[in-house]
Amino acid sequence: MKFSASSFSAFTECQNKFNLQYELAVKKAEVSNQAEFDYGKYVHKYAEVFELTGDDNLSKNEAALELTDGIKVSDKFANIEADIACYKKYRSGQTIGLEKMIMYELFEGIDVIGFIDRVSLVDNTVTLIDYKTGKRVDSGIQHSHRLYALWALWRYPFADITLDWQYLSIGKRKKYNVKEEDALSIHRIREYYADILQELDHCRTTGTWKSVSHFEKWRCGYCAVSHACKMQGG
Ligand code: SF4
Repeated sequence: MKFSASSFSAFTECQNKFNLQYELAVKKAEVSNQAEFDYGKYVHKYAEVFELTGDDNLSKNEAALELTDGIKVSDKFANIEADIACYKKYRSGQTIGLEKMIMYELFEGIDVIGFIDRVSLVDNTVTLIDYKTGKRVDSGIQHSHRLYALWALWRYPFADITLDWQYLSIGKRKKYNVKEEDALSIHRIREYYADILQELDHCRTTGTWKSVSHFEKWRCGYCAVSHACKMQGG
C-alpha cells in the first residue's frame, strides 16, 4: 500500500477522514479554501518555471495560467509580488532536484511517495525545501518532515541534511538540521510509523475510526469528504 504525508496526516488528524478518503475512496468535494489551494499551486508553478528557465514573467501571464493549469486567479493573488520577493530572498544553493519525486519502502509492503519542491546543495549540505503559502506556521515536526528526512538520510548518508520550510506569505521559515533532531533519526521515524500502522490495523480490524477531537473541529471546515461524514449528517 502507498502512503504520502497527506494520507498519514489525514489518519493522525481524523481517522474517520482517512477511512472515507483512502479506504472507501469517497470522491472529494471542492473545499471552501479552493482559492488558497489555487494560489499555492500557482506559487509552486512559478518557482518551478523560474528554476528551470529564469523566466520571471509568469505572474504577468495569468490568462495562460488559468487555461493551462486550471488555476482560477482570485483576490488571494493580491500579495503575489511580496511572496515572490520572499522566495527570491530565501533562495540559495545549487538546485539538484525540482518537484523531486521520492518513493521508498518504509516497511515491507508499505511504500511512501511524495514530492519535494526543491533540493539544493551548498558545500556538503543538502537542503530539502518546501514552499508554503498559508498564513500559519506549522507547529512542530510534521509527517512531511519525517518522510522527506528519511528519504534524504538514505539518499545522502554522508551529507548534512537541512529541512527548510519557507512560509512565503508571512515571510517566515522553519529549519531543522536533521542530524541534530532525535525525532528525525531513522530509528525514531520508523518507530513512529510502526505505531501509526499498528493503530491503522486496529481500526481496520475493529471497524472503528475516531473523528477529530472537540478542539480540532475547525478541521471539518476544510474537509473535502465532510459530505460523506456521519458526524456532519452525511
Ligand atoms: S468532517 Fe470532520 S469529523 Fe468528518 S471526516 Fe471530515 S474532519 Fe473528520
